[in-house]
Amino acid sequence: MSESDPTVFERIVAREIPADIVYEDEEIIAFSDIAPKADLHVLVVPKTVYPTVVDLAETDPALLGRLVVVAKRIADERANGEFRLVFNSGASTGQSVFHVHGHVLSGGLDEGSVGHEL
Ligand code: 5GP
Repeated sequence: MSESDPTVFERIVAREIPADIVYEDEEIIAFSDIAPKADLHVLVVPKTVYPTVVDLAETDPALLGRLVVVAKRIADERANGEFRLVFNSGASTGQSVFHVHGHVLSGGLDEGSVGHEL
């Protein structure tokens, strides 16, 4: 796999890999995590690839803000509106996909199970 290969999340955007897509607009896609760690476990992902949330914040902070608003909308629609938003940033924290994604978690959370335990 080379750096120019599409990420697994780009392949979901391109419909090359099936996913339970719960939200999509021109800039953002959100879909259920394949290995849920809570009653609600959705990934919110900008379609443009930034490796980590820090890269996104430095380059396009407004898009990071819109990701948070989409997370809230999903929690409103699918849970009680309250949620945890986790960005693993770096391999030592458990980040495995280097295409920034926020884990939207609500209800029945398996504590400490998203990424490595802190
Ligand atoms: P990370 O560990 O990088 O913070 O989170 C990556 C997340 O992506 C994991 O929770 C993992 O279950 C999820 N994931 C990896 N591959 C796929 C996939 O092909 N489809 C979906 N829906 N989720 C995936």
